[in-house]
Amino acid sequence: MLADADSFIEGLRATEAEDSIGEISGEVVICTKCRLCETRKHAVPGEGSISSRVMFVGEAPGEQEDVQGRPFVGAAGKLLTELLQSINLRRQDVYITNIAKCRPPNNRPPRKDEAGACRPYLERQIALIRPKVICPMGNSAIRAFMDSDKSVTELHGIPFEVESVTYFPMYHPAAALYTFSLRRVMEEDFRKLRGLLDSMAD
Ligand code: URA
Ligand code: SF4
Repeated sequence: MLADADSFIEGLRATEAEDSIGEISGEVVICTKCRLCETRKHAVPGEGSISSRVMFVGEAPGEQEDVQGRPFVGAAGKLLTELLQSINLRRQDVYITNIAKCRPPNNRPPRKDEAGACRPYLERQIALIRPKVICPMGNSAIRAFMDSDKSVTELHGIPFEVESVTYFPMYHPAAALYTFSLRRVMEEDFRKLRGLLDSMAD
């Protein structure tokens, strides 16, 4: 009986959360809170499992993402998918999103005011999904979570904890497309992430 009641409540929670993630995504796709709405084709809210223990946060959508309205579907996304597979995770098992939900022109980094305008969406996604581990990928994403001038070169692969969330900074997969040797570094960081997730209680 108890197990049934538990799973019923769990189901209710999942439904509630799903509606709210849908609500956030619905707001993002029509958002006009910063200038990036003027040049985007599609806003990219994020996608994946709302019960995931881990969330990946990139910088902003690129060309392919802008066309499809989905995160990490271009070349960097292909590498991210492979790295996930290398530690037995599928894209649909994790949540994937970005600091800015709309593509900046010519893929420039999002400006401070744009990232700031978009921040409440990310915060609401985090509050709903309550991931144990957040992986900011690349300098822009790392800076959004950490008040530090240090770069990803120093910070990657070293977890730090803030208010019972563990942050695990990583290189951005696009970096490994330009610098092939970084691919091995990223593979090693993903193995460390696997160890971190395995060491945590559910
Ligand atoms: N790069 C990012 O930072 N995010 C994406 O969604 C795709 C490429
Ligand atoms: Fe809105 Fe964020 Fe897109 Fe700016 S980047 S228009 S704040 S969804």
